[in-house]
Amino acid sequence: MSRKLDESQGRGDFFKSLGTLFGGFIADQVETVVEKVTPKQLRPPGALSEFAFLTACTRCDKCIEACPQDSLIKAGPSAGLGLNAPYLDPRSMPCFLCTDLPCVKACPDGALVWPTRTLADGEVLEGPPAVKIGTAVVKESRCLTWASEDRAPQDCQVCVDRCPYPGVAIRMTDTESGRHPEVIDERCTGCGLCVFGCPTPEPAIVVLLDR
Ligand code: SF4
Ligand code: SF4
Ligand code: SF4
Repeated sequence: MSRKLDESQGRGDFFKSLGTLFGGFIADQVETVVEKVTPKQLRPPGALSEFAFLTACTRCDKCIEACPQDSLIKAGPSAGLGLNAPYLDPRSMPCFLCTDLPCVKACPDGALVWPTRTLADGEVLEGPPAVKIGTAVVKESRCLTWASEDRAPQDCQVCVDRCPYPGVAIRMTDTESGRHPEVIDERCTGCGLCVFGCPTPEPAIVVLLDR
């Protein structure tokens, strides 16, 4: 069963107990070292912050097995301390933001928690719109809507059309240089559906970690 927990509370709970053992300063140092030596990977919806996630996740595979889209991958040896932990590669298979987040519900260890997020204007999101795997970033040099040395700009808005929150998380914006996709960082979930759909050989939109 998943826990319903605010993201910051989850991290706070974890470090409260770790801090009791080692003291806050040492816990912070351990977190920094672990995050430096672990390759950056996109975690499933509702994942705690990286260090807390890697500590709480028992590598039981229950989220991987629960995903109906086969979106979650079990990490291999190159993942370092993230060995066997679940991650996403949206170019291979994005997260479809299932309404009931079965991956989160399947996690018995509190490594994935039902997401809630408070926006800058005070609006509170919960469930799929509150997911924050990362944030999509458009790479202008690859995006078809920008001119390059060997081609004229083209009409393309596949990323917007594939987004589960078109016009909210990503929209087409008219600028002096033409009509281009623009990501609204705060509302982007990092699901990667845009990355999966982008027609360029190397994706012109990628999901970057916020951490
Ligand atoms: S929300 Fe759905 S598609 Fe996304 S990782 Fe979880 S189970 Fe898989
Ligand atoms: S789908 Fe790719 S090429 Fe098309 S507008 Fe979006 S980022 Fe650019
Ligand atoms: S902009 Fe891309 S990553 Fe962000 S919510 Fe939309 S489809 Fe998902």
